[in-house]
Amino acid sequence: MMVSDYFGCMVFNDEVMKAKLEPEAYQSLQRTIQDGRSLNLSVANAVANAMKEWAVSLGATHYTHWFQPMTGITAEKHDSFISPAKGGKVIMEFSGKELIRGETDASSFPSGGLRATFEARGYTAWDATSYAFIKDGVLCIPTAFCSYGGEALDKKTPLLRSMETINRQTMRVLKLFGNEDVTSVKTTVGPEQEYFLVDKDCYKRRKDLMYTGRTLFGSKPPKGQETEGHYYGVIKPRVQAFMKDLDVELWKLGVLAKTEHNEAAPSQHELAPIFASTNIAADHNQLTMEIMQKIAKKHDFVCLLHEKPFEGVNGSGKHNNWSLSTNTGVNLLEPGDTPQENAQFLLFLCAVLKAVDEYQDLLRISVASAGNDHRLGANEAPPAIVSIFLGEELTDILHAIESDSQYDVKEKQLMRVGVHTLPKFPKDSTDRNRTSPFAFTGNKFEFRMLGSSASVSEANTVLNTAVAESLRQFADLLENAEDFEKTLHQLIKDVISKHKRIVFNGNGYDDAWIQEAEKRGLSNLKTTPDALAHYLDEKNVALFTSHKVYGEKEMQSRLEIFLDNYCQIIEIEARTMLDMASKDILPAVSEYSGLLCNTLLAKKAVSKAVDKSYEQEMVERISTLTALAYADVKKLQFVLTSLHKEPNVTARANYCKDRILPIMQSLRASADELETLVSADSWPFPNYGELLFGIIE
Ligand code: ADP
Ligand code: MG
Repeated sequence: MMVSDYFGCMVFNDEVMKAKLEPEAYQSLQRTIQDGRSLNLSVANAVANAMKEWAVSLGATHYTHWFQPMTGITAEKHDSFISPAKGGKVIMEFSGKELIRGETDASSFPSGGLRATFEARGYTAWDATSYAFIKDGVLCIPTAFCSYGGEALDKKTPLLRSMETINRQTMRVLKLFGNEDVTSVKTTVGPEQEYFLVDKDCYKRRKDLMYTGRTLFGSKPPKGQETEGHYYGVIKPRVQAFMKDLDVELWKLGVLAKTEHNEAAPSQHELAPIFASTNIAADHNQLTMEIMQKIAKKHDFVCLLHEKPFEGVNGSGKHNNWSLSTNTGVNLLEPGDTPQENAQFLLFLCAVLKAVDEYQDLLRISVASAGNDHRLGANEAPPAIVSIFLGEELTDILHAIESDSQYDVKEKQLMRVGVHTLPKFPKDSTDRNRTSPFAFTGNKFEFRMLGSSASVSEANTVLNTAVAESLRQFADLLENAEDFEKTLHQLIKDVISKHKRIVFNGNGYDDAWIQEAEKRGLSNLKTTPDALAHYLDEKNVALFTSHKVYGEKEMQSRLEIFLDNYCQIIEIEARTMLDMASKDILPAVSEYSGLLCNTLLAKKAVSKAVDKSYEQEMVERISTLTALAYADVKKLQFVLTSLHKEPNVTARANYCKDRILPIMQSLRASADELETLVSADSWPFPNYGELLFGIIE
């Protein structure tokens, strides 16, 4: 079968709607989708019925309101379509009310205190802009999830709110440039998803992978990723079969999976879709992660989405390609050909510069997690410092505008925004620097700090809102300008001079950059607790509340959830380490050194020259390391007992960072060295070599 025959076959998309709905109902639904108007109940009933008929014809028996609670994974509760009918029979039913709104027990989802003030119930509301789809025989209706009082309990609601505010502010700016045909603007996102595949049997023998998604122990294999031979390398047949299956499943669900290739680390791969409007991209990325894990199991793999499954090997991120697009199909970050288009482009570029500079901390927070802390700044990922890569040409152009100097010496003219055409700069020169956390790549920005397991919603909510704030200020100024062109030119100059410190085209992995960034006054929030300490800073609360993306109470609840998640992860990791060290590593090492001691005794019986013998030295080193490891085990046990005595969640998070993580690191160091001394057969679980290079065909 051809891809075009089955692409989107499990999606209640526009084509299906048109075919299954009366023209009037279809039109009404279109208005809801395009302009966000609410759906009246009779239309909702018609849509629900059409959806049910369609879903049942494809074998679905249940429906669910599919949502993205603060756990970061998607949630679904299945209800069947059945309804009792005469004679002990059933009919399949689905009403408009059931489509539009659902009620669910919210008590098992994190609410960060919102639940205490309101009731335990949560409500899900259909997000009509994202198509319903069928997954495993269940009709999934994408929804937003709120409390009784309307507070967002999910990641989707704020994302939709941020899209509204950026739409409103962008429209104001576009009007000023005379774009009469544009009626709405959406942000677009294409998230490139990295992941590892490991063999299922190996995985099952590693408690750390099973409980925490990353290896808590493991010494470097003889070959790491030094050669980078894996990057874009030939894909092994077993992996290829997985990727093929994955594509088919995703295509059926209407996900535009486009490229699949090997990544830099052994056993690491990437999937990139074609971009879509942000809320759909967020839904699709969530689906992609879920389907990846499901298909991997079918192929006897386990798909690891953790940000740093292996120490000393590249971690996995998610590159969030972001732009702004009009309903007429114009990309607002695409440099144009005329002075007018260029001026508009420069203004949007400036909006991003200003937003990223002023809300560095929020962008950092949006990617903060226990897992990503291991990855950011770890030599293969952007550092925890947010900066923008613009490329030399564009930076020169901005500099020329700022300083009223000549950009192009040959043409001998000053760059006047809105009067002169931008000099052409080659697009391909904009994407060379892979070390930048936030890079302009010709007609979009690529935010590279996101962790691989994160929902893209957090980062895009911040990005949309911060850019909306820049645009709001620009529009306020320009709408009242007497001389539009002059004011615009001055505005762009001012923004460049005020925010150019955020532009950095050099090597972001270089230590010198950390010092330079400090001189520039850029923030460097190394860990999740460090970053989260700024979440409720006055300017951040003002940003979100003034754009109605979060209320203050919602922000407080979110902060509590982020901190609590962080603590939970570290506590589970610490307990897993204790378990592995006490039950597996120390007993195995003890047994092995017993063997060495026996040999040593036997040798001593026949020869006196054993002082420098292999056995003697090994036993000594192993004993030293065992003692160190055992001491750390006891320390870790001790600090864990005090964790829950901390007065609040902030204190607990700092306790995890300052008291628990250092002991975990120290325990790991001893255990990893022990691994290099003990015979391969005695080591209780598969090593890095087997995990990373075990898939041979
Ligand atoms: P590559 O990085 O392989 O050169 P691209 O840079 O063209 O490929 O695209 C990388 C990702 O960026 C893809 O997911 C693509 O769909 C996405 N992308 C391209 N244009 C846009 C845009 N205007 N808005 C958001 N994402 C985009
Ligand atoms: Mg790219």
